Amino acid sequence: MDELCMCRLLVVERTAWTENNAGRRFVSCVKGRNGCNIFRWTDPPVCARGRAVICGLLRRIERNEEELEKLMLLQEEKSNCRVQKFRCLNVKMFVFIVVVIWFVWTRF
Ligand SMILES: [Zn+2]
Repeated sequence: MDELCMCRLLVVERTAWTENNAGRRFVSCVKGRNGCNIFRWTDPPVCARGRAVICGLLRRIERNEEELEKLMLLQEEKSNCRVQKFRCLNVKMFVFIVVVIWFVWTRF
């Protein structure tokens, strides 16, 4: 793209992800909303079927990401629980060893 915007910067091509224009490319200012208002579609409108398919896939990705986040949180909780159990076991072992040493020490 050799086109300059009103800020005298090279324009950038982006992809829209809105319901009506999912996957449709456009040209805009490199500064986005903080720049000038240059805007032009570079792709023709997406057909109704294409929009439905892309939006369905986007929703599926969103659901999968939410599910993954939940699973990662669950995994983290399980991991923390295991660490706590391990620490608890170590404390019990320490107390047991101290008691055995004390017992042996006082008997002999
Ligand atoms: Zn600009």
